[in-house]
Amino acid sequence: MKAAVVPELGARLEIRDVPVPEPGPGQIVVQIETAGLCHTDIHAANGDWPVKPKMPLIPGHEGVGRVVAVGDGAEPLREEDRVALPWLGHACGQCRYCIKGEETYCIAPAYMGYTMDGSYAQFTLAYASHAVKVPDGVSSFDAAPLTCAGVTTYKALKAAHPQPNETVMVVGIGGLGHLGLQYANVFGCTSVAVDVEDEKLQLARDLGADHTIDARSGQAEQLESLGGVDIALVTVPSPAAMRAAHAALNPTGRLVLVGLPADNRLELPVFETVLRGISVMGSLVGNRNDLADCFDLHARGRTRVVAESRALEDVNECFAEVLAGRVPARLVFDMS
Ligand code: NAD
Ligand code: ZN
Ligand code: ZN
Repeated sequence: MKAAVVPELGARLEIRDVPVPEPGPGQIVVQIETAGLCHTDIHAANGDWPVKPKMPLIPGHEGVGRVVAVGDGAEPLREEDRVALPWLGHACGQCRYCIKGEETYCIAPAYMGYTMDGSYAQFTLAYASHAVKVPDGVSSFDAAPLTCAGVTTYKALKAAHPQPNETVMVVGIGGLGHLGLQYANVFGCTSVAVDVEDEKLQLARDLGADHTIDARSGQAEQLESLGGVDIALVTVPSPAAMRAAHAALNPTGRLVLVGLPADNRLELPVFETVLRGISVMGSLVGNRNDLADCFDLHARGRTRVVAESRALEDVNECFAEVLAGRVPARLVFDMS
């Protein structure tokens, strides 16, 4: 089968012919129809983070397709079921975090397209327990970005307990942010979108942002005239953007960190954090119920996925496009 492979950290991806995987106990093989390109895949290929991915690696954790092979004990999934393969490839199900529904913080996780091979391939091996069925009302094309960009921003906002009278600022209107902005509206909040590209700010207005802010010019003044924000969801992998978002928060505000910069340090003022009762929190993707919620909201017309289709052969050019901020808002590899 055809797959895009990172041969070693920092190297260009190679399109290779590799063996079709076979399912072991509890596993399935999925014939991939669509595979979203998350900025995380670029971090993975570059080895940007303190914990490195397996090498060689097939990236991808927004894969959607049909089950074509089922291992022992992989029921109730069956051949022909259409499923999504999210970042959380497997969790132990036994630890205290799994038991309380916070399985993304499992003490023994497997990550799709990071610690196990992902969906930049014609077929992907997955654990049946952590594949999520895609309902009929959601196309495979739309399901791909929802599988990480959607669920991550939905869960991150939920973790900050948004109230309808609050203002949510979403920083970065890329793959994650364009959906995060829509969830802010779904939660009934006033939404503020921040980006550094004119096209992204226009996209935010098209998607229903109440306010847009160009971070290239006078972000602090523009936010002050809005009366500050209560929740800041920062999808941009930039400590500077995180500090600017912290400064924009009203008393009792929540800074939700989602973007994962290669520069793994963030300096924040303690005095303002304490005196204003600010919470600084991190959030990692979402659990299987969260993803099912995202599919359900989408099927009910509450969100719109903005994405363009690409061929897997163009994966290196696609990475460059994302890094240049030229993508409206997600790229999806069409594998069908
Ligand atoms: P993306 O490249 O699609 O989007 C980034 C956006 O930020 C772009 O629209 C870009 O124009 C904008 N931007 C760049 N600099 C900016 C600035 N200074 N101020 C405002 N906007 C700016 O990336 P993505 O796929 O949305 O991923 C974003 C980050 O989130 C990555 O670091 C990724 O690894 C991380 N991520 C985290 C999780 C999680 O669970 N925590 C899940 C998925 C992705
Ligand atoms: Zn992702
Ligand atoms: Zn666990």
